[in-house]
Amino acid sequence: MVSKDKGAKCEVQSLVKLNLKLLSKDKRLGVDGFKEAARLATHTILAACGLEHKKSIVRPFPDSVCRHNNQTKQLHMSNLMPSSCRECFYAFVKDTVKAVLSEQKF
Ligand SMILES: [Zn+2]
Repeated sequence: MVSKDKGAKCEVQSLVKLNLKLLSKDKRLGVDGFKEAARLATHTILAACGLEHKKSIVRPFPDSVCRHNNQTKQLHMSNLMPSSCRECFYAFVKDTVKAVLSEQKF
């Protein structure tokens, strides 16, 4: 279980960094700002996946981030968030990074 959680954390971290790079292009985050934004987004997403305690959530998230029906979900299931398909999970990651960037003062 531990190694699975660790793998999930790494996957979320790299997804967050990827989105953060794209979304912070026109911002001057700096190294510390980038790290802090990445940390906040990663904790929120891990908590949403049930991999971390709820208290680390920095912003609310919907119960289910997937808007697809069960058939689509089963075909493209995300291994990080079983209640969501991959497509919706990636959109959720992007939204979270965007929200962290707009809500925090960097
Ligand atoms: Zn979906």
